[in-house]
Amino acid sequence: DDFGPTLCIGEILVEIVANTAGSGFLEPQPLTGPYPSGAPAIFIDQCGRFGGSAAMIGSVGKDDFGRVNTDRLQRDGVDTSAIHVDPALPTGTAFVRYRDDGDRDFVYNMWTSAAGALDWTAEVEAVVARAGHLHIMGTLLVQQRIWQVIERAAGIIKSRGGSVSLDPNLRKELGADADTASRFAAVVSMADLLLPSGPELFVAAGTDASAGENAALASLFAGGAREIVLKRGAAGSTCFTAEGTRIDAPAFAVTELDPTGAGDCFGGAYVAARRLGFDMAQALTYGNAAGARNVTFRGPMEGAGTRAELDAFIAGKGRVA
Ligand code: ATP
Ligand code: MG
Repeated sequence: DDFGPTLCIGEILVEIVANTAGSGFLEPQPLTGPYPSGAPAIFIDQCGRFGGSAAMIGSVGKDDFGRVNTDRLQRDGVDTSAIHVDPALPTGTAFVRYRDDGDRDFVYNMWTSAAGALDWTAEVEAVVARAGHLHIMGTLLVQQRIWQVIERAAGIIKSRGGSVSLDPNLRKELGADADTASRFAAVVSMADLLLPSGPELFVAAGTDASAGENAALASLFAGGAREIVLKRGAAGSTCFTAEGTRIDAPAFAVTELDPTGAGDCFGGAYVAARRLGFDMAQALTYGNAAGARNVTFRGPMEGAGTRAELDAFIAGKGRVA
């Protein structure tokens, strides 16, 4: 079913950000938050906000941090019926502080929180049965409990003729272990659309960066991908197709206030736009706008834009109205 919702599965967190730049959390300091967060949640929020039909599978605690997320996702049109509310575990948290050089220090409570307590429930079954597309975060490949849910959902959605996109999000270390590598190869071959950023292209393809972008792309297309979108940060993005089309789209010039969530907003807008029938060039423009707009806001999903907000942002060449 081409028109069923886009589905994303994974961690839902709140993020609490240090107000000052510097190292870590050893001293009391002013903090701002809680902000709704978690890469899969950011992706699906941007997707819903854009106007695409969207649904989320995840788990939160029975607490205000969970409500911060479910309220936001509902406000933005995301189906939250398959978000489990865990009776015992608290909602996941990420405390983040930026250093002067842009590096980040984190204190996470992720897989020991409700975020890790994700199982195949009747609600999950029901939303998977309606979904037309699944967006997979590569970071979850090593999360056994969640990965089982993703794999099962992917199989069901694919066998019904639905599509799959993959944000490889793979750090180099992960490529080393054989189990992860073979799982990753299976997901790549299942993915119609890949959305790597920077060196992830080479990690995903399993080719050497020195062999160049084209060798990596050829390897991924041979593995079954149809469309590959490279996210290039402040340099914009490029889309390649298995048929040999290449489209480049420049970034919007913005002042970056908080880089977290750019890639997820890009992906949410790109996937939503493609599924709503926009062509690749239009989807790249929306993706670039969504990523750029989001980095001008403090908080990981605070800058996710509606279609009208992104249209205004594009018309104003990167000005937030
Ligand atoms: P993240 O950094 O969130 O992990 P990513 O590495 O997957 O994301 P990026 O390439 O950093 O992806 O960002 C996605 C898109 O957002 C870029 O392709 C670009 O269009 C936009 N973007 C990100 N940062 C900036 C910036 N500083 N200025 C303008 N556009 C940006
Ligand atoms: Mg980046």
